[in-house]
Amino acid sequence: MAGERSGRSLYGARRAKELSISEVEITGRTPWDRPTLSANAKTGISLDLPLTSCVPTAACAEVCYASQGRQYFRASVVKSLAVSRLIDQDPERAARKIVDEAGGRAIRIAGSGEVLPTHRALLEHIDHHGGSWWGFTRRVDTHRVLPDLMFSIDATTPAPALDYVAAEVPVRRRAYLRRPQDGPAPLDVAVTFPVHGSITRYVEQVPRDPTDCPEIRGEVTGCWGCRRCY
Ligand code: SF4
Repeated sequence: MAGERSGRSLYGARRAKELSISEVEITGRTPWDRPTLSANAKTGISLDLPLTSCVPTAACAEVCYASQGRQYFRASVVKSLAVSRLIDQDPERAARKIVDEAGGRAIRIAGSGEVLPTHRALLEHIDHHGGSWWGFTRRVDTHRVLPDLMFSIDATTPAPALDYVAAEVPVRRRAYLRRPQDGPAPLDVAVTFPVHGSITRYVEQVPRDPTDCPEIRGEVTGCWGCRRCY
């Protein structure tokens, strides 16, 4: 039942599930003819990765959206592990496959999980093959090599990361995750995400802000109708 996991680290539950997946399950999902991208009601399509690379803040771990809904299903977790492995094996082949599956649509990178600095090769191959991508990171090392990503902060972001964002990230590339108990973003941001999810149904408890994501507030049907984060 959804409520059983509320109030605990959702991130911890998802990581535990990832670690319970056997090698046989992962290799059984790694043939190149299986889909790489995932359907995403909000973003259209996304490349969903495991949480292995996440360095979550306390707030992010508490309300982790990849630990809720369809992304938490075992098949989705296995797929994220398998896709990550294919990317590591051959980023150029993975990029060609991803661009082909996207069919001209913008790809939300890391619909779950995190982008690593080493994913730069994959994203450059996607660019080379005519694909387009967008996404978010909480990792300073990743943002330094992929500055087109949005940088996500929240009320528990460590000071060194906040200092990096203040000094290096333009406002149009800044995002803020807001829980009901949090104030407005500590820095100017382009978009605020009221916490939402099948377990963390807090949208109506988060005060409204002019920078709120319009999809979460029900003002657009999907990112394709907004594109502020592209
Ligand atoms: S602000 Fe716009 S582009 Fe960004 S996540 Fe929300 S709907 Fe999508």
